Order: sequence, then structure tokens, then C-alpha cells
Amino acid sequence: MLKESSFAPGSEWQTDLYGMACEQLRRVAELIDLDPDEHTRLAEPRRALVVNLPVRLDTGELVSFTGYRVQHTLTMGPTKGGLRFAPDLSLGECAALAMWMTWKCALLGLPYGGAKGGVRCDPRALSPDEMERVVRRYAAELQPIVGPDADVPAPDMGTGEREMAWFYDTYSQAVGQATPAVVTGKPIALGGTPGRRQATGLGVVDVLAAMLERLERPLDRQRVAVQGFGNGGSVVAAELHARGATVVALADVGGAIADPGGLDVPRVAGWAAEHGTVAGYPHAEAIDRDAVLEVDCDVLVPAAAANQITEANAPRLRCAIVAEAANGPTSPAADAILRDRGVVVLPDILTRGGGVTVSYFEWVQAHQKYTWTETEIRDRLRAQMTDALDRVLEAAGELRCDLRTAALSVAVRRVAEAARLRAVFP
Ligand code: GLU
Repeated sequence: MLKESSFAPGSEWQTDLYGMACEQLRRVAELIDLDPDEHTRLAEPRRALVVNLPVRLDTGELVSFTGYRVQHTLTMGPTKGGLRFAPDLSLGECAALAMWMTWKCALLGLPYGGAKGGVRCDPRALSPDEMERVVRRYAAELQPIVGPDADVPAPDMGTGEREMAWFYDTYSQAVGQATPAVVTGKPIALGGTPGRRQATGLGVVDVLAAMLERLERPLDRQRVAVQGFGNGGSVVAAELHARGATVVALADVGGAIADPGGLDVPRVAGWAAEHGTVAGYPHAEAIDRDAVLEVDCDVLVPAAAANQITEANAPRLRCAIVAEAANGPTSPAADAILRDRGVVVLPDILTRGGGVTVSYFEWVQAHQKYTWTETEIRDRLRAQMTDALDRVLEAAGELRCDLRTAALSVAVRRVAEAARLRAVFP
């Protein structure tokens, strides 16, 4: 006989990550006095598809990969979110990430519910041909639930423009016509949007710049330390440098460098492109990788991995503002310490919204069959990010809470309101 707990509602999503997402929702629900009916409706994904993909490897061997797509809420419009190809991907992870996409889209005012999906595989172990077969079969299996007005995937960990092109083509072959609005993050030649790749980093800078303005701190007088020099960190560092800020320290997986007088970021980028790391850059002092977080600065930008600012180092941070450019770089315990120390934390759910915002612009252009200019995209991104920051600051004032809680509260309220107005079917 099966144990009773096997049938516990929602048990199929259970993972640490999903538990974390639910706990966040529970705490915000309490703070904003969320109607228990709306809480119930938002605490679990609306639907999910689990598929097994038979794929022939280059050796001729047939293997079966597991793919997922979770749609968290269908209340706000089509669903939106990335495709993650990773060896430990699970239904529960997709469920948590789909819920976070719902909050991110709601906070940014995008007409989407959240989704997330992908394939459990090691993309680095697959040849380009194998990867193409996995993506195409996955896209074919997802056909019943994706579509330009139903669910619109995008790149995430382990996927990029190439995979989006295959997904787009597979879907289009099935419906018999080119359907560019079915995915975002496509190559430019297929209707991708210029700036999509830089969008997350630029969005971080937009939120930070607007916050500095509200605090009456001139951007060009800020000393900044950036941990991470990949797609996010390098864009943030370059943009802040270009706008006159002084980048005093930079780190990546290979090492860290510092110069209190300011690093020449384009030169460092040239060095990193050539040597694969910022380490060894000759015109700066080499420092310990972890020390970058504790450098004396005004703004610290964690743009590397999760869980970097912890209970252990939070008391030693020497910055006034943390602008999160990575996913979940600050642990909940560190959050509390920074709050007590008066350090402003610009939370990831707000700062990292630039990617999906420019995805939205790509999707709108595909629907309009009209291309916007790069300037239009840049200006609209800035406006969208700044508006979101203002909504968060307003909520923080009203609820007397930190910006992370405030951001979540804005998003949850917005989705709950929409759910209430649509009422329960039937
Ligand atoms: N994967 C990205 C995110 O999580 C992009 C999602 C999208 O553009 O739809 O924000």
C-alpha cells in the first residue's frame, strides 16, 4: 500500500527550492494580509508537462532524456520563462523557478504568468548534432502547451540563441508557418532583439542608477566592486565605468584584482577575453577572490553565484548599497544583518528583470511585425526598470519592510488582484 504522504497535495513539486519559494510567498502573504483563497491558488503551479525524449546519440545509441515545462499561473496572460538544460533539473526546481518568473513579470508590469522548463541533461556532454536533436524533440513534445499566445520560452542556463532558433524552427514546421513569437532570445537574423544579451546587466545598472538618484548620490562619484565578470558582471562593470563610476575591484572564477584609483574596465575586458580571466591583469593589485566582497566601496555588485553574501561575511561588507546581479547571492541570514546595518539591498527579482523585459519587447515586435530601434529598446527598458523600482520603494514605505519583501509584495498583490477579478471557474 502507498503511504498516505505520497498523496499529500503538492507533493510532486517538493524540493528545497520549491519549499523556499512557498515560504517566501507565505511570509509575504502574512505581511500583506493576502486572502487565503488567493494564497491557495498561487501556492501551486497551474499545470506541468513531463516528457521523455528518445534521442539518438552520434554513436547510434538511443537514450531517453526527461524534459519539463511548468506553468505557474495562467491568470496574467501567456506564460513566460526560460529553458534550462542541466544535469540535476527536476520538476520541483522548475516549479520554484516558474513561481519566481510570475513575481518577476508582475513586478515589471509584463502581461505574463511565470513558466520554466528544460531538459535534464549535461549540455556540455552533447555534440551540437545531439543537442539539436534534444531541442527539436523537446520542442515537438511541448507543442500542445506552448505557442505565441500560450507559453513563450526563452534562454536560461545551458541554452542560448542557437537553441531558440531550433525551437522556433521546430514549432514553425509543425504549424506550417513561421511563428517568431513562440520564443524569445532568438538570433538577430531571426527576429531577435539587439541588446537582449546585455539586457540583464543593463537592467541592473538602470535600477541602481535610479536608486542613486533617489538617494541623491551622483553615479559618477560611486566606487564599485563587482564579483563576477561573465555575461552579467562584465556588462554592469563596463556600463558603470562608461558612466563615470570608479570600478575599484573585479573578480571572476580565476581570481580578483583591485585598484582604489579605478580600473580601466575596457582594458581589463580585453585582458579577460585574451586570458580567460581577469587574474594576472598587470595594471592592478591581485587580491583574494573572496576579498572582493569586503573591499571598501559604495556599491557592491554580486554578479557570480548564489549564496555569496552570508552570515559569515555580511558583518564585514564595506558598502552602502548591494545591487544583486546574480540570482540569490544574499542568504536570508545575511539579508537580516545587512538590514540591521542599514545597507540597502536591491533585490534580484527587481534588478534582474531586464532579460525578460527585453524578451517581452522581442515578443511584441514579433506580434506587431514591426522592428523597434535599439534606442527605443534601451529607453523603454530604462523606463520599465525605473517604474518597477518606484513601485518597490512605495511598498517598502507603506509596509515598513526591506526592498526584497517589498518587491515580492508588489508582485503578489498584482497577481492576487487579477486572480480575484477573474474569479474561480466554474
Ligand atoms: N531565463 C530568463 C529569466 O529567468 C529569461 C526569461 C525570458 O526572457 O522569458 O529571467
